[in-house]
Amino acid sequence: MDEPSPEGRTSDEGLTSPEVLKVIDKQPYTLNMNPGVSVYGETLKKISGIEYRYWDPSRSKLAAYLRKKGKEFDFQENMNILYLGAASGTTVSHLSDLLTGGRIFGVEFSRIPFTKLLGLCETRKNIMPIQGDANNPAAYSFMVGQVDILYEDVSQKNQVEIFIKNSTMLKKGGKGFLAVKARCIDVARAPEKIYEQCIDELEEAGFVILDNRDLGPFEKDHAMIVVEKKV
Ligand code: SAM
Repeated sequence: MDEPSPEGRTSDEGLTSPEVLKVIDKQPYTLNMNPGVSVYGETLKKISGIEYRYWDPSRSKLAAYLRKKGKEFDFQENMNILYLGAASGTTVSHLSDLLTGGRIFGVEFSRIPFTKLLGLCETRKNIMPIQGDANNPAAYSFMVGQVDILYEDVSQKNQVEIFIKNSTMLKKGGKGFLAVKARCIDVARAPEKIYEQCIDELEEAGFVILDNRDLGPFEKDHAMIVVEKKV
Protein backbone atom coordinates (compact mmCIF):
# COMPACT_ATOMS: atom_id res chain seq x y z
CA MET A 1 0.00 0.00 0.00
CA ASP A 2 1.23 3.48 -0.81
CA GLU A 3 2.55 5.56 2.02
CA PRO A 4 0.26 8.50 2.63
CA SER A 5 1.74 11.57 1.05
CA PRO A 6 0.06 14.43 -0.75
CA GLU A 7 3.35 15.49 -2.28
CA GLY A 8 3.03 16.27 -5.91
CA ARG A 9 -0.76 16.57 -5.71
CA THR A 10 -0.56 20.16 -6.79
CA SER A 11 -2.16 22.00 -9.61
CA ASP A 12 1.03 21.42 -11.56
CA GLU A 13 -0.27 17.91 -12.11
CA GLY A 14 -3.58 19.22 -13.39
CA LEU A 15 -5.69 18.28 -10.39
CA THR A 16 -7.67 21.42 -10.02
CA SER A 17 -6.88 25.12 -10.14
CA PRO A 18 -3.95 26.17 -7.97
CA GLU A 19 -6.00 28.71 -6.09
CA VAL A 20 -8.40 26.25 -4.50
CA LEU A 21 -6.26 23.23 -3.59
CA LYS A 22 -2.80 23.70 -2.17
CA VAL A 23 -0.15 21.54 -0.55
CA ILE A 24 1.35 23.33 2.43
CA ASP A 25 4.04 21.58 4.48
CA LYS A 26 3.15 18.36 2.60
CA GLN A 27 -0.49 18.57 3.75
CA PRO A 28 -3.63 19.29 1.68
CA TYR A 29 -5.44 22.59 2.19
CA THR A 30 -8.40 24.19 0.44
CA LEU A 31 -8.95 27.88 -0.15
CA ASN A 32 -11.34 29.08 2.53
CA MET A 33 -14.48 30.36 0.83
CA ASN A 34 -15.55 31.83 4.18
CA PRO A 35 -12.36 33.43 5.57
CA GLY A 36 -11.88 33.43 9.33
CA VAL A 37 -14.23 30.50 9.86
CA SER A 38 -13.04 26.98 10.71
CA VAL A 39 -15.84 24.48 10.00
CA TYR A 40 -14.86 21.49 12.17
CA GLY A 41 -11.88 22.81 14.14
CA GLU A 42 -9.42 22.50 11.26
CA THR A 43 -6.33 24.73 11.19
CA LEU A 44 -6.46 27.89 9.10
CA LYS A 45 -3.30 29.19 7.44
CA LYS A 46 -2.59 32.36 5.52
CA ILE A 47 -0.22 32.32 2.56
CA SER A 48 0.42 35.74 1.00
CA GLY A 49 -2.77 37.02 2.61
CA ILE A 50 -4.93 34.15 1.28
CA GLU A 51 -6.51 31.86 3.83
CA TYR A 52 -6.48 28.07 3.47
CA ARG A 53 -8.16 25.33 5.54
CA TYR A 54 -6.37 22.12 6.46
CA TRP A 55 -8.18 19.16 4.88
CA ASP A 56 -7.89 16.52 7.57
CA PRO A 57 -7.58 12.95 6.14
CA SER A 58 -8.66 11.43 9.43
CA ARG A 59 -11.93 13.42 9.24
CA SER A 60 -12.63 13.24 5.50
CA LYS A 61 -12.41 10.08 3.36
CA LEU A 62 -11.89 12.19 0.27
CA ALA A 63 -8.84 13.84 1.87
CA ALA A 64 -7.66 10.35 2.85
CA TYR A 65 -8.07 9.26 -0.78
CA LEU A 66 -6.00 12.25 -1.85
CA ARG A 67 -3.32 11.45 0.72
CA LYS A 68 -3.26 7.84 -0.50
CA LYS A 69 -2.37 9.16 -3.96
CA GLY A 70 -5.82 8.56 -5.40
CA LYS A 71 -5.45 8.95 -9.14
CA GLU A 72 -9.01 10.03 -9.94
CA PHE A 73 -9.04 13.25 -7.97
CA ASP A 74 -10.49 15.53 -10.61
CA PHE A 75 -12.84 18.12 -9.19
CA GLN A 76 -13.37 21.09 -11.50
CA GLU A 77 -14.81 24.38 -10.33
CA ASN A 78 -18.03 24.17 -12.38
CA MET A 79 -18.96 20.60 -11.51
CA ASN A 80 -22.18 19.61 -9.75
CA ILE A 81 -22.06 16.82 -7.17
CA LEU A 82 -24.69 14.67 -5.55
CA TYR A 83 -23.30 13.83 -2.12
CA LEU A 84 -25.03 11.06 -0.15
CA GLY A 85 -24.36 11.05 3.60
CA ALA A 86 -23.43 14.72 3.91
CA ALA A 87 -23.57 14.59 7.75
CA SER A 88 -22.71 18.03 9.21
CA GLY A 89 -20.68 18.94 6.13
CA THR A 90 -17.02 18.22 6.93
CA THR A 91 -16.11 16.93 3.45
CA VAL A 92 -18.89 18.92 1.80
CA SER A 93 -17.29 22.13 3.11
CA HIS A 94 -14.02 21.34 1.31
CA LEU A 95 -15.90 20.51 -1.89
CA SER A 96 -17.61 23.86 -1.44
CA ASP A 97 -14.15 25.48 -1.43
CA LEU A 98 -13.19 23.61 -4.61
CA LEU A 99 -16.39 23.90 -6.66
CA THR A 100 -16.73 27.66 -6.66
CA GLY A 101 -18.95 27.69 -9.74
CA GLY A 102 -20.76 24.41 -9.13
CA ARG A 103 -23.22 22.96 -6.65
CA ILE A 104 -23.08 20.25 -4.03
CA PHE A 105 -26.43 18.59 -3.34
CA GLY A 106 -25.94 17.14 0.14
CA VAL A 107 -28.37 14.40 1.21
CA GLU A 108 -28.56 13.56 4.90
CA PHE A 109 -31.31 11.83 6.86
CA SER A 110 -30.31 12.41 10.50
CA ARG A 111 -31.74 15.52 12.11
CA ILE A 112 -28.78 16.66 14.24
CA PRO A 113 -26.07 16.62 11.53
CA PHE A 114 -28.58 18.00 9.03
CA THR A 115 -29.25 21.00 11.31
CA LYS A 116 -25.50 21.70 11.41
CA LEU A 117 -25.36 21.33 7.63
CA LEU A 118 -28.09 23.96 7.33
CA GLY A 119 -25.91 26.33 9.38
CA LEU A 120 -23.02 25.75 6.96
CA CYS A 121 -25.28 26.53 3.99
CA GLU A 122 -25.99 30.01 5.35
CA THR A 123 -22.48 31.12 4.40
CA ARG A 124 -21.74 28.67 1.58
CA LYS A 125 -24.23 29.23 -1.17
CA ASN A 126 -23.03 26.38 -3.40
CA ILE A 127 -24.31 23.74 -0.94
CA MET A 128 -27.91 22.60 -1.45
CA PRO A 129 -29.04 20.70 1.66
CA ILE A 130 -31.59 17.91 1.21
CA GLN A 131 -33.00 16.15 4.23
CA GLY A 132 -33.90 12.74 2.90
CA ASP A 133 -33.21 9.04 2.73
CA ALA A 134 -30.73 8.09 0.00
CA ASN A 135 -32.70 4.83 -0.39
CA ASN A 136 -35.46 6.91 -1.94
CA PRO A 137 -33.87 9.09 -4.66
CA ALA A 138 -37.25 9.75 -6.30
CA ALA A 139 -37.97 12.10 -3.38
CA TYR A 140 -35.18 14.52 -4.42
CA SER A 141 -34.06 13.66 -7.96
CA PHE A 142 -36.30 16.42 -9.40
CA MET A 143 -34.24 19.00 -7.44
CA VAL A 144 -30.89 17.56 -8.45
CA GLY A 145 -31.18 16.85 -12.17
CA GLN A 146 -27.99 15.42 -13.71
CA VAL A 147 -24.64 15.70 -11.93
CA ASP A 148 -20.98 15.31 -12.90
CA ILE A 149 -20.04 13.39 -9.76
CA LEU A 150 -21.88 11.05 -7.43
CA TYR A 151 -20.23 10.74 -4.02
CA GLU A 152 -21.48 8.37 -1.33
CA ASP A 153 -20.43 7.90 2.28
CA VAL A 154 -23.44 6.45 4.09
CA SER A 155 -22.00 3.55 6.13
CA GLN A 156 -24.93 1.26 5.41
CA LYS A 157 -25.12 -2.46 4.69
CA ASN A 158 -26.74 -1.76 1.31
CA GLN A 159 -24.30 1.01 0.35
CA VAL A 160 -23.73 -0.37 -3.17
CA GLU A 161 -27.47 -0.70 -3.81
CA ILE A 162 -27.99 2.92 -2.68
CA PHE A 163 -25.19 4.06 -4.98
CA ILE A 164 -26.66 2.25 -8.00
CA LYS A 165 -30.16 3.63 -7.32
CA ASN A 166 -28.83 7.20 -7.21
CA SER A 167 -26.67 6.79 -10.29
CA THR A 168 -29.65 7.60 -12.52
CA MET A 169 -28.72 11.22 -11.69
CA LEU A 170 -25.10 10.75 -12.80
CA LYS A 171 -24.29 11.94 -16.33
CA LYS A 172 -22.92 9.48 -18.85
CA GLY A 173 -19.13 9.69 -18.48
CA GLY A 174 -19.52 11.02 -14.94
CA LYS A 175 -17.53 9.65 -12.03
CA GLY A 176 -18.75 8.03 -8.86
CA PHE A 177 -16.90 7.85 -5.54
CA LEU A 178 -18.07 5.16 -3.15
CA ALA A 179 -16.52 5.24 0.31
CA VAL A 180 -16.99 1.63 1.42
CA LYS A 181 -17.09 0.85 5.12
CA ALA A 182 -16.40 -2.88 5.13
CA ARG A 183 -17.58 -3.46 8.70
CA CYS A 184 -21.05 -2.16 7.85
CA ILE A 185 -21.44 -4.79 5.16
CA ASP A 186 -20.04 -7.75 7.09
CA VAL A 187 -18.04 -7.60 10.34
CA ALA A 188 -16.81 -11.18 9.96
CA ARG A 189 -15.32 -11.09 6.45
CA ALA A 190 -11.96 -9.68 5.41
CA PRO A 191 -12.36 -6.08 4.17
CA GLU A 192 -10.52 -6.92 0.90
CA LYS A 193 -13.16 -9.59 0.11
CA ILE A 194 -15.90 -7.08 0.72
CA TYR A 195 -14.28 -4.51 -1.58
CA GLU A 196 -14.07 -7.22 -4.28
CA GLN A 197 -17.76 -8.00 -3.81
CA CYS A 198 -18.64 -4.29 -4.13
CA ILE A 199 -16.56 -4.06 -7.31
CA ASP A 200 -18.33 -7.11 -8.79
CA GLU A 201 -21.72 -5.58 -8.03
CA LEU A 202 -20.71 -2.24 -9.56
CA GLU A 203 -19.35 -3.92 -12.69
CA GLU A 204 -22.53 -5.96 -13.02
CA ALA A 205 -24.46 -2.69 -12.90
CA GLY A 206 -22.39 -1.44 -15.86
CA PHE A 207 -19.79 0.77 -14.15
CA VAL A 208 -16.13 0.77 -15.13
CA ILE A 209 -13.81 0.64 -12.12
CA LEU A 210 -11.21 3.41 -12.26
CA ASP A 211 -9.60 3.07 -8.85
CA ASN A 212 -9.87 1.11 -5.63
CA ARG A 213 -7.83 2.35 -2.71
CA ASP A 214 -7.63 1.28 0.90
CA LEU A 215 -7.91 4.38 3.10
CA GLY A 216 -5.80 3.10 6.00
CA PRO A 217 -4.24 4.32 8.22
CA PHE A 218 -6.55 7.32 8.08
CA GLU A 219 -9.77 5.26 7.95
CA LYS A 220 -9.42 1.65 9.05
CA ASP A 221 -11.35 -0.96 7.01
CA HIS A 222 -12.50 1.60 4.47
CA ALA A 223 -11.80 1.84 0.76
CA MET A 224 -12.60 4.41 -1.88
CA ILE A 225 -13.89 2.83 -5.08
CA VAL A 226 -14.02 5.21 -8.04
CA VAL A 227 -16.10 4.33 -11.10
CA GLU A 228 -17.13 5.79 -14.42
CA LYS A 229 -20.66 5.59 -15.75
CA LYS A 230 -20.35 4.39 -19.33
CA VAL A 231 -24.00 4.19 -20.36
N1 SAM B 1 -19.46 12.13 4.49
C1 SAM B 1 -19.38 12.78 5.77
C2 SAM B 1 -18.13 13.62 5.81
O1 SAM B 1 -17.07 13.18 5.32
O2 SAM B 1 -18.19 14.75 6.29
C3 SAM B 1 -19.47 11.76 6.89
C4 SAM B 1 -20.60 10.82 6.66
S1 SAM B 1 -20.97 9.73 8.00
C5 SAM B 1 -19.76 8.53 7.91
C6 SAM B 1 -22.37 8.90 7.31
C7 SAM B 1 -23.61 9.78 7.26
O3 SAM B 1 -24.54 9.14 6.39
C8 SAM B 1 -24.30 9.93 8.60
O4 SAM B 1 -24.46 11.30 8.89
C9 SAM B 1 -25.66 9.26 8.39
O5 SAM B 1 -26.72 9.89 9.08
C10 SAM B 1 -25.84 9.38 6.89
N2 SAM B 1 -26.71 8.34 6.29
C11 SAM B 1 -26.68 7.02 6.49
N3 SAM B 1 -27.61 6.40 5.76
C12 SAM B 1 -28.25 7.37 5.07
C13 SAM B 1 -29.31 7.35 4.14
N4 SAM B 1 -29.91 6.20 3.77
N5 SAM B 1 -29.73 8.52 3.61
C14 SAM B 1 -29.13 9.69 3.97
N6 SAM B 1 -28.12 9.78 4.85
C15 SAM B 1 -27.67 8.62 5.41
